[in-house]
Amino acid sequence: MTIYTHTLDAVPQTLPVGKVVCVGRNYAAHAKELNNPVPTEPVLFIKPATALVDLEQPVSIPLQFGVCHFEAEMAVLIGERLTSCNEQQAATAIAGVGVALDLTLRELQSALKEKGLPWEKAKAFDGACPISAFVSLQNIEDLQDQQIQLHQNGELQQDGNSADMLTPILPLLVYISQFFTLSPGDIVLTGTPAGVGPLAVGDSLKISLGDIIDVQTKIVERD
Ligand code: ZN
Repeated sequence: MTIYTHTLDAVPQTLPVGKVVCVGRNYAAHAKELNNPVPTEPVLFIKPATALVDLEQPVSIPLQFGVCHFEAEMAVLIGERLTSCNEQQAATAIAGVGVALDLTLRELQSALKEKGLPWEKAKAFDGACPISAFVSLQNIEDLQDQQIQLHQNGELQQDGNSADMLTPILPLLVYISQFFTLSPGDIVLTGTPAGVGPLAVGDSLKISLGDIIDVQTKIVERD
C-alpha cells in the first residue's frame, strides 16, 4: 500500500508507510459515552504499519474476537521528521489530512482494560486502520473547524467537529513527539467524536471530512 496525497492542485507525493500514533478520548463526549474519565493529558497508543489498509477498498473485519466498533477520525499525514518539536515545526511537517477508521475490538478491549492489560490486540491488529487518501493543507481553511461524519447504512452515527478536540492537532503533535519521533509517512489519528458503534458484515459506510473528503466503503468478513 502506498500512502499518498491526492490533491486538487498539488503534485501527488509518495511517502513510505510508517506507524500510526493514535490519541484516545480526545473528544469529551466520546469519553463519556464509554464511561471513561475525560483525560487531563493525551492518552496515546500505536498501530503498526501492518494495521493500514485502503479505506476505499472493502474493509474486512475479524469475527472471532467479539464486537468490532467503528471510530471515524481525522488523520494527519506527517511529511517531516519531528522529535521534541514545537508547534511551528509541527505545522510545517503536516503533509496532508485524511480520514481513518480506528477499528476497535471493543469486547476484547474492555476485557483487557478490566485486567489492567495493554489494549494492543484490540486496536493494533492487522487491518485495524483503514485510511483514505490525503489532501494537502492548501485545500483546507482551518484544521480545527472540520466536520467529521460517519453514516452507517445511510444513518448518521457520528457527527463531530475538530473544534471540539480536547488537545488540538498542533499541541498533540508536540506532545507525541516528546515520546515518539514522527517520521515522514507516519500518520496521527486525532481521536473520535461520539457515536461509535458495532460493525456488521454487509454494512455500507460513508465517512467524510468537511467538504474535502468523502469516502464510501463496505464491511466484509475476514477470510
Ligand atoms: Zn480512536
